[in-house]
Amino acid sequence: MSTKNEHSLLKDAAINKPIHSITKFTTLDYPHHLASIFWFAKCNMACPYCYNPHIVRDNGNISLDEALEFLQNRQGRLDSVVLSGGECTLYPHLEAFCEAIKALDYKIKIDTNGSNPELLRTLIENGLVDYIALDYKAPHYKYTELTHYRHFERFEQSLNLLIRSYLPFEVRTTLHSDLLTPADINAIIEDLHKKEYLGTYYLQNYLHVEPTLGATKKQQNQFDLSQLTPLLPIELRNF
Ligand code: SF4
Repeated sequence: MSTKNEHSLLKDAAINKPIHSITKFTTLDYPHHLASIFWFAKCNMACPYCYNPHIVRDNGNISLDEALEFLQNRQGRLDSVVLSGGECTLYPHLEAFCEAIKALDYKIKIDTNGSNPELLRTLIENGLVDYIALDYKAPHYKYTELTHYRHFERFEQSLNLLIRSYLPFEVRTTLHSDLLTPADINAIIEDLHKKEYLGTYYLQNYLHVEPTLGATKKQQNQFDLSQLTPLLPIELRNF
């Protein structure tokens, strides 16, 4: 359970029930860890291929205190938590929530679209996150068209922050071949290279599910992987 002080910090968010649902156990999402996934409701982007339209549109059902109680009951059986969504960094109480999770001795992975660089900085500087997966949705010239979010510069601040931090992190792109071309992916790779990103770039193939947020169809275009620039190591997922 949270301490009395943490409880008061989390009180408002607890009433608001920001978590849509919980995946109790996974070994896939946070490599080498036994994790639960907390799916935060709502998002400030609207990617057409989003697999979680209900999480993005619906209200949450679970308070932060209920989520902490869930973790307390699993101490020793799980070692980490993935904060995903939706976009978990929209929640102003996330810092206090991460403090309370850390007090229970769990590692924390955050999945983010990078739109809240200030919160990411706070979490990193205070040792409240162990790993970040950052979505690089599209090159600058296509970013708003794809995400319906106008502030590429905020994503860019998050990217630069992570590149200059010592925190383990990954940059990844979901690839729907009717939405992103090899030229678009090369623009992302060239930008990462220019910014001195030294890690692996993860290219995640879109797997068709229904419904998606923008009712995307199955991919029609062929995507020629051989056209990708070899400037960075690329790891393919779901190809
Ligand atoms: S895929 Fe896009 S819309 Fe869906 S949760 Fe991620 S950032 Fe939000």
